[in-house]
Amino acid sequence: MIPVTKAYLPNKEKFQAYVDQIFDSGWLTNKSTLLNQLEIRLAKHLGVKNIICVANGSLALQVAYKALSLKGEVITTPFSFPATVSTQVWEGLTPVFADIDPISFNLAPENIEPLITSRTSAIVPVHVYGNPCEVDSIQAIADKYQLKVIYDAAHAFGTLIKGVEGSHQSVLKYGDISTISFHATKLFHTVEGGAIVTNDDSLANKVRLLINFGITGKSTIQSLGINAKMNEFEAAMGLCVLDEIENISDMRSKVWQKYQHGLNDVVEMQAWHPGSSNNCAYAPVLLKSEQQLLELVDKLNHIGVSPRRYFYPSLDTLDFLPNASIGSKDGWHNDQKALCTVSNDIARRILCLPIYPDIDDQIVDLIIATIRKNTQLGKEE
Ligand SMILES: *Cc1c(COP(=O)(O)O)cnc(C)c1O
Repeated sequence: MIPVTKAYLPNKEKFQAYVDQIFDSGWLTNKSTLLNQLEIRLAKHLGVKNIICVANGSLALQVAYKALSLKGEVITTPFSFPATVSTQVWEGLTPVFADIDPISFNLAPENIEPLITSRTSAIVPVHVYGNPCEVDSIQAIADKYQLKVIYDAAHAFGTLIKGVEGSHQSVLKYGDISTISFHATKLFHTVEGGAIVTNDDSLANKVRLLINFGITGKSTIQSLGINAKMNEFEAAMGLCVLDEIENISDMRSKVWQKYQHGLNDVVEMQAWHPGSSNNCAYAPVLLKSEQQLLELVDKLNHIGVSPRRYFYPSLDTLDFLPNASIGSKDGWHNDQKALCTVSNDIARRILCLPIYPDIDDQIVDLIIATIRKNTQLGKEE
C-alpha cells in the first residue's frame, strides 16, 4: 500500500556516528550535547528566539497551557487533530469551539469574539496543514480582551509569513507561544518530539523548568513540573534530518505542484494565506460530497493507495470530551452537537493524498488520473 506519508530516514552512517558519540559519552538524556546543538540549529534555521525541544507535540501544548497559567475556557478550532483539544481537557480546561473559515480551513477570527466570556483565558488556533491563520486579527482580539494566544503549529515547520514590515518570517513567531510536533510523520522529525517556541525569555525559562520536574539544582525543586524532555537519540535524528531539510522541502514541493496542476480543475484546494510560503506538509483535496469521497477512497485503495481522511470527524462531535462545549453568547449547548457546520462539512469532504519525499512519480500520476476519472464521473451524474 502507498501510505499517506512516510517517515523520512536520513543517511544511516551519519546517524550511526551520532550514536557512537552517545555511547562514548554514556549520556543518553537530560539536556546534553546533541540536544543543545539541535536547539541552536533549529533556532537559527527557523529564525526564532527561543525554541525548547520536548518529548512530543502534545506535551508541548500541555506545557504551554501550564506556562501561561490558563484556566476556564479556551476558544479553539474543531478542525484539527484530536491532540489540540484533548490536551486542553487533560489540563482541566474547557474547549469552546468556534467554526472555521470554509476556504482556509483555519479558525475564523469573526467567530471568536461572540464566544468570549469572563471565563475565557486563551485562544488556541491551528495553522491547518501549515497554512498561517489570520494572525493579526487574532492578536487584535486577544489584546482587546487580554487573552493569551497559543498556536498549535504542529504542521507549520518552515512556513514563512509576510510581517508588517514586509519581510518574511517564521509563522512560529506569532502568539505568546507556538508549539510544534516533530513526530515521525511530520515534515521535520525526531522520531517522537516537539518544541515550544516563544519570543519571551522569561517564559522560555519557565518552560525549561516545567519540562524537567521543576528542578532547579541538585537539591532544589522550585515548582510543579512534568517530564517532557527530548533524549539524545531523538536529537541525533533531528540533527540528521535537519541537514537534509532543503532537499526534503524541494522534493515535497515537486509532488505538491504535480497534484496542484493535475487536480485544481476537478477538486477544491485549500486557500493559502496570501504572501506566505507553503511548506507542502500535506496535500489535502476537497471533494464535492462525502459520497464522492468514499467512492474515491475505494478506487484508490484498489490501486494500492491509502489516502487519509484527515481531519475527520470534526472534534465538536466527540462525545468523550467531557468538558467540551459549543459556546454561544447565551450559554452552553452541551447537548447540541455539530454546531460548527463549516467544520463538519469540510471534515466530511476532505482527503489527504500521499505526499513524502521519495514517492514514485508514476504513483502520483496514477493517483491524479484516478481522481480525475472518479470526480468527472461524479460530475456527469
Ligand atoms: C501531530 C499533531 C499534534 C500532536 O503532536 P504529537 O507529536 O504527535 O504529540 C498536535 N496537533 C496537531 C494539529 C497535529 O497534527
